[in-house]
Amino acid sequence: MAGNKTFTMLKPDAVENGYTGKILDMIIDAGFKIKAMKLTHLNEEQAKKFYEVHKDRPFYMELVEYMTSGPIVAAILEKENAVEDFRKLIGATDPAEAEEGTIRKYFAASKAKNAVHGSDSDENAEIECKFHFSDNEIVG
Ligand code: GDP
Repeated sequence: MAGNKTFTMLKPDAVENGYTGKILDMIIDAGFKIKAMKLTHLNEEQAKKFYEVHKDRPFYMELVEYMTSGPIVAAILEKENAVEDFRKLIGATDPAEAEEGTIRKYFAASKAKNAVHGSDSDENAEIECKFHFSDNEIVG
């Protein structure tokens, strides 16, 4: 059965460009409930660990630099079928390929600076939520 929780980050370009409110509006309008949220600035160690699965990809260090370049907004979102529905809402990794009406279509600058993260599986959602939030930061 599909889980009801996913993890998102509004990435440094989105926060820097003042899109935080607009993106959160789209997320809430799409039926997601915010269960935890924080404005934070990842350090290099955190960004490397979060994106460890990509450590052998050629863009790994570029990704780490980007994700540490400014504040992000991290959040846990709840909705039925959360992971899949949120991936639909954010659109393809490359905004040039993202469908109309998706967050990345509206707000992403490029495949690298693509405005928003969304977990790609229930298992990773669980790991990513725990990476950023302790139990007492999550509302019941
Ligand atoms: P996602 O699941 O749609 O976020 O995409 P991936 O898991 O494939 O990649 C993780 C993140 O790495 C993306 O969201 C981008 O920020 C970044 N990324 C992906 N492809 C590239 C690339 O070719 N170059 C750079 N610099 N960053 C990339």
